[in-house]
Amino acid sequence: MIVVFAAISAVVQAWAALHAGGMASSASLNVPVLMYHHVREPGPGLSTVDVLRYAVSPAEFEKQLDYLKQNGYTTIDTHALDRAMRDGVALPRKPVILTFDDGWETQYDIVFPLLKERGMVGVFFVHTGVLRDGEGAGSSMSWSEVCEMEDAGMDIECHTLSHPSLPQISPEQLDKELGDSRRTLEAQLGRPVTAIAYPFGDFTDREIEAVDKAGYRLAFTTEVGLAQSLREPLEIHRTIITYFDSLSDFEIKLNEIDGSRALIDYHPSITPPRVARAPGSTNVQ
Ligand SMILES: [Zn+2]
Repeated sequence: MIVVFAAISAVVQAWAALHAGGMASSASLNVPVLMYHHVREPGPGLSTVDVLRYAVSPAEFEKQLDYLKQNGYTTIDTHALDRAMRDGVALPRKPVILTFDDGWETQYDIVFPLLKERGMVGVFFVHTGVLRDGEGAGSSMSWSEVCEMEDAGMDIECHTLSHPSLPQISPEQLDKELGDSRRTLEAQLGRPVTAIAYPFGDFTDREIEAVDKAGYRLAFTTEVGLAQSLREPLEIHRTIITYFDSLSDFEIKLNEIDGSRALIDYHPSITPPRVARAPGSTNVQ
């Protein structure tokens, strides 16, 4: 799917900007986008090997953050990637995007402080239907926590309203999932929301067109690899990090342009991207 894309000059500018940063391609940018879900120790609801593919222990997560710091990486947000891909604005020499899906409370309790104390930024994809009002504990973050993170420099972006597999819903439902969630987030955050992650990584050409029409500038998939095609800003690749990754696995995933190591970590029940999942199948992605 070729998304309408500004102009050849933007591509040239992007190339020039990134060539200066030492990681050039005329057609794509190599930006690792790491995908996390749970950051906590195994426990109830988080114990099987399959589910632990969507978790990282807090201790390992800290080691990964320190690795990034010590090796000269700079965390960036979706707005910086958008400006680089569409307008050719230069990125730091070793950019990386850390994404956290699904609005789990542990992302506020554990991830947020660890990022903040290191001066790093995270991108949090939340489905608005699950966020809580008011104070108190829950498995998902509250709106006040989400807004606190945004105010502290984190990047809160959209993951739809109720987290359906988008290819399996009606056009009317699709518009609602993309539009209502965005409007709710924008009202809470007080700024435009321009990035979305496809629930379960499921999308087809119909979803790309709908996301574009709804006004999103970047859309994040679960397709692996570090190369982000300048012509496909609505098909950003991400690299899954799991509970079982050693620091050397992490290093490989961070540097492996084709993503073949990350591909090994896909849950066998996850339908390959662009193919609708079987009704009734579930996972936490
Ligand atoms: Zn999700």
